[in-house]
Amino acid sequence: MKSSVDLDKLLMDINRKSYPAYKDLKGSYQFPGYQLDIYHVQGDPFAAPSKLGIQVKKEQAGFPEEYYNIDYRRIALQDYLERQFGKAVMEYMFKAKGSGKSGLISVSRCGQEVLERTAFEIDSGSLLARFEAGFPANGRTINSYELRKILFDYIPKAVEKSMYYKNLDAEETRRKIELSEDQHFIREELEKRKLVAFIANGAVLPRESGVSQKPMKNAVKFQSPASMEIELELPYKGKIKGMGIPEGITLVAGGGYHGKSTLLKALEQGIYQHIEGDGREYVITSGTAAKIRAEDGRAVSHVNISPFISDLPNKKNTTDFSTEDASGSTSQAANVAEALQAGAKVLLIDEDTCATNFMVCDSLMQEVVSGEHEPITPFTLQARKLYEEHGISVIIVAGSSGSYFYIADKILQMDNYHAYDITDKVHKILEGRESKYYRQDIPVSASVLFDKKKRILKVKKMDKKRGQVKIKQFGRNSFSIGKETVDLRYLEQILDSEQTTTLAYCLKELAEQMETREMDAAAAVDRLWGQLQEKGLKSLCKDTYLPVSMAQVRKQDIFACLDRYRGII
Ligand code: ADP
Ligand code: MG
Repeated sequence: MKSSVDLDKLLMDINRKSYPAYKDLKGSYQFPGYQLDIYHVQGDPFAAPSKLGIQVKKEQAGFPEEYYNIDYRRIALQDYLERQFGKAVMEYMFKAKGSGKSGLISVSRCGQEVLERTAFEIDSGSLLARFEAGFPANGRTINSYELRKILFDYIPKAVEKSMYYKNLDAEETRRKIELSEDQHFIREELEKRKLVAFIANGAVLPRESGVSQKPMKNAVKFQSPASMEIELELPYKGKIKGMGIPEGITLVAGGGYHGKSTLLKALEQGIYQHIEGDGREYVITSGTAAKIRAEDGRAVSHVNISPFISDLPNKKNTTDFSTEDASGSTSQAANVAEALQAGAKVLLIDEDTCATNFMVCDSLMQEVVSGEHEPITPFTLQARKLYEEHGISVIIVAGSSGSYFYIADKILQMDNYHAYDITDKVHKILEGRESKYYRQDIPVSASVLFDKKKRILKVKKMDKKRGQVKIKQFGRNSFSIGKETVDLRYLEQILDSEQTTTLAYCLKELAEQMETREMDAAAAVDRLWGQLQEKGLKSLCKDTYLPVSMAQVRKQDIFACLDRYRGII
């Protein structure tokens, strides 16, 4: 391998040449204490910055092996080190000067969640940090002296500060690992105790603002109602109390502005682990939980929504339903059907984002519009069966209709940000009252949603340039593949644009397979998922260089993207 001295010599050779001469730098160089990899060099100073990596051998980095010998601990350590590396490197942002993106340094921007990311990896032999840097130029003329500052001064300092155990705060590092252990423990405990979620007393659920995921200052801290309080003994933190939400149907009622949606949001995001200081460190939701909402305008391809919608006016077949432009209720029906097919065991629903007619239909309306003409069987009618026969739990936030009371096992009321258990009170009121809100004849059983029948899909020919399908990403919310745009705005559990990057690559892979032959959707996603588990996120980039960061997603997110792809025939 070439050394840092060779790199320095190369740099001096190309100084003041025209920009493309930078391409000669591609390769690996041994520096004292680490290896620098230059994976990709940008074509000009205004193009996307160059891609680099730092590898430090495990023995040299010196972290205790028990900090990374189990996946969740390794991910916690990676996350911590990525943040440290990012902080150290950011001090040198644009300190090297020049035209265009000269001197820009970019790393993964981690949010409140702890996610596996390609930006920082610990593999069998080393720690690997990936980042981007704008190679400096004056106009389009190489300025090697400025790049030398980045590669021989700034980066070495940042690496020294953030990638060696001896230079980090040992106590702080240990706390991150212990937190991951405690969080993992709660996750396992959920299953053992047949709970779908746990919210610790003292948790801070609301966020600072609509644009900041930091905890709200001076928020009312969460306190479990006594009847739902459980105590856990965490391996490091010790005893902790909080609310355990049991499997079944849970209703969160209460007046407007009392904190219902905030509670549900925290549960939606409880599928992830949160960083120390977030306020939701000990808010953990069962891993498959899926937020379900209306999504007017989405495309739907070959989904059986017949338990919810049958007899459409145009006689459209709802056992194999497709549309380019779903309505509120058909989109929500498809979202439920798809989530269940993708393996969700818990559905999270907020009436704020529901199609009302999908959720409930009151008795007067039923009398006036007789069953024959109403194509919708509301969700509330199917929910009990979903739970009793298929073990699907539901948490519904609703303040507007009494019909939900009839189906709920547990009823919480949010009042001034405090949670109360009003189950017994409501059940007393309901005693003797017949649930006249519901017609008893359900046209199609919810069981068809669990059919293992193959869903065979094929996609249209994709738009290509030089044989390649182009992916373009638009932040967190969408990406395009060829000419088709996939809108992820309403997948509310996708939080990070790096997850969107992962999903774009996943969908490209699936679409390329389905372009040549029709395939069973579940089998195709399973195969891709297996590949990710075995070979990691970076296996998604075969013939191109890796985007600096991709973040972990769930298998059901991959399904969700495929489901929204408009190229399916
Ligand atoms: P709802 O869904 O019941 O109408 P929200 O959950 O939307 O109410 O909350 C209303 C407002 O109260 C939001 O601005 C939210 O940030 C704030 N809020 C929610 N929970 C708390 C809390 N525990 N402490 C302080 N403010 C809160
Ligand atoms: Mg609300």
